[in-house]
Amino acid sequence: MAHSRHASTGASGGLVDQSIDIDLLVGACVAEGERRGWTLEKLDGSEGVGLLALHRPGGPGARRLYVSAGMHGDELAPPLAILRLLKQDAWPENLDLTLCPCLNPTGFRRAQRENEEGVDLNRQYHLPEGTAPETVAHVEWLKGRERFDAALCLHEDWESQGFYLYELLRDERDSLATEILESVKGVSAIDHSDHIDGLEARAGVIAPRGEFGTMMEEWAEAIWLMENKTDVSYTLETSSADPLILRVAAQVKAVNAVAKRLSEK
Ligand SMILES: [Zn+2]
Repeated sequence: MAHSRHASTGASGGLVDQSIDIDLLVGACVAEGERRGWTLEKLDGSEGVGLLALHRPGGPGARRLYVSAGMHGDELAPPLAILRLLKQDAWPENLDLTLCPCLNPTGFRRAQRENEEGVDLNRQYHLPEGTAPETVAHVEWLKGRERFDAALCLHEDWESQGFYLYELLRDERDSLATEILESVKGVSAIDHSDHIDGLEARAGVIAPRGEFGTMMEEWAEAIWLMENKTDVSYTLETSSADPLILRVAAQVKAVNAVAKRLSEK
């Protein structure tokens, strides 16, 4: 969760991505969702930037999965993966699904990590210190949701040697790390470094344990979710050194693996 890299400073040996038309992309997500009966929710208070979510209710007793993307405007694969997932429409029946296709539209319009005010939104989730309008609107909206059985935050890393994830859990028995890593193996190398982002890692997993609220002074979205809405959170990180098409594929496979496992529990 602690990155400070930019496309312009270069992916090691990889292609430097171009920006994407985020408005076109989010519009396509909305069209795909609405075509399949998903509900569009516009987040109150975000009118200036236009945050939205898509929701597909599950049947009685359905498990609840939350997936967010587009927190950092220079990480292209996550919102593209959301569109791919909506088009693919291969979700298990008995899942209640909530998707946020893009949490930082102004950052994408400038192809930069931060929003247009230069704020890293993934450090704004300790309210009331966090004052970015995107985060305030996002949190207010999240407060009105029921708890999630799992939450996924999709990200990319400009320095990693492959795919890795942050696993935040209250109960080790809820771990989905094996399923996620198995699912991406075919399209992405796993980063086997013993330290990633300054944290201890093992076989592509960073698994901090303890008091989540004290792990970071400036909370990431995943910390807020653990403190308020879930007991199981994964931040998935594809490596920007890989071609975009493979990063999107890795994100899609990881989300599908979690959806499948959750529906079987
Ligand atoms: Zn990120």
